[in-house]
Amino acid sequence: METEDAPLTEVGERRIEWAMRSMPVLRAIGARFADTRPLDGLKIAACLHVTAETAVLVGALKAGGAEIALAASNPLSTQNDVAAALGGYGVEVHARAGVDIETYYRHIHRALDIGPDLVLDDGCDLVNILHTERVELLDAVTGGCEETTTGVIRLRQMTAEQALRFPMVAVNDTRTKRMFDNRYGTGQSTLDGIVRATNMLLAGRTVVVAGFGFCGRGVAERARGQGARVIVTEIDPVKAVDAALQGYEVLPMADAARAGELFITVTGNRDVIRGEHLAEMRDGAVLANAGHFDVEIDVRALEGMAQEVNFGVRPYTDEYVLADGRRLLLLAEGRLVNLTAAEGHPAAVMDMSFSAHALAVAWLAEERGRLAPGVYEVPAEIDTEVARLKLEAAGIAIDELTAGQADYLRSWRAGS
Ligand code: NAD
Ligand code: SAH
Repeated sequence: METEDAPLTEVGERRIEWAMRSMPVLRAIGARFADTRPLDGLKIAACLHVTAETAVLVGALKAGGAEIALAASNPLSTQNDVAAALGGYGVEVHARAGVDIETYYRHIHRALDIGPDLVLDDGCDLVNILHTERVELLDAVTGGCEETTTGVIRLRQMTAEQALRFPMVAVNDTRTKRMFDNRYGTGQSTLDGIVRATNMLLAGRTVVVAGFGFCGRGVAERARGQGARVIVTEIDPVKAVDAALQGYEVLPMADAARAGELFITVTGNRDVIRGEHLAEMRDGAVLANAGHFDVEIDVRALEGMAQEVNFGVRPYTDEYVLADGRRLLLLAEGRLVNLTAAEGHPAAVMDMSFSAHALAVAWLAEERGRLAPGVYEVPAEIDTEVARLKLEAAGIAIDELTAGQADYLRSWRAGS
């Protein structure tokens, strides 16, 4: 049967099977969980992008004995076929692509109705709702994991204000997540989303990347690799020096706005591209965001400036026509372009993020009742284990410290 004729559930199943092929580490962890059942009897409410890669994570947690209710962590990112397939596997899924914001939050409430022992979040929306609107569920929650940078920032703020009521593990901050997912995953899938939405040629284009953190660095590298001329904007002097030493032009957005043909925001901040910048942009400029939420590009300002909006000039591409006739093209409504117009990070990258996530969940389950509320790092051994398994799956061998080297690294007496 051709894919387009197949029932939704079957398309989703095929997608999940395809993702599994590139997720050997998570497959191995799932098999181990099936033997050891570290999550037996635990209920998990999860708020993650509903993608084929998330389905593989959910499968591993289910194999470990967990009962799972899943809501989407973004109103536009759900792969409907995967959601249907997950339903068939006995997972409670509350997600559909393109829902309005009220439905998005209603779905998170429905996932919370499971009465979770543990929570998984990607951006802190579920934890936020739990602490503001579903406080009756808080006593039963013994911990959770957070997948992304902005979520971890919010959890740290909740901890500082003594608002967080249970321990949360910062999966984002593991080396095996941030160094690969944020950098290579966002780098590739962001350009993938932009190209799928616009079919634009990147070679020779002037691309402005706002934010030179883990994600921004990845996006800038990939854009340069495609032959684009890349300008970086930053607010952190150290990151700006790093960008300059890597050969990028560094400019304030006020100047970059005039030069850019494609703008990509990845800061986790709001109002990075504002009305005053939009006013300076050239005709045909393309605006895309890969950072958290839809506030990095001031879409309200763009709406206010537009005389006319042509929605869907291409899928995920809306054209805003300004009073002087210039057209600005906004992708994915200013939400994550890589998870809306493309499929998010490739499975091979999510293999590491979600393996760290799965092992962190098992660690939390083991430590239940022993951790005070707050943000916890993923234990370093988990990081090492994920990378070791990834190398093993790729057939890559590395050196081991000799006894003499290990001693040398511990000694302070050895001089020149
Ligand atoms: P990071 O902290 O490493 O980098 C953010 C950078 O943005 C920092 O260098 C900061 O100085 C800079 N910045 C902040 N405000 C700015 C402004 N007004 N102008 C220019 N630069 C500014 O964070 P990260 O890990 O790169 O994540 C960035 C965002 O992307 C977060 O919201 C994160 O949650 C999200 N994220 C998205 C994906 C995805 O799949 N699209 C993947 C991982 C993370
Ligand atoms: N809820 C926020 C999340 C932003 S950060 C929002 O929608 O604005 C994006 C996170 O998505 C990253 O930390 C990354 O780990 C995750 N992600 C990227 N590709 C993915 C994929 N294919 N499947 C599931 N999650 C993915």
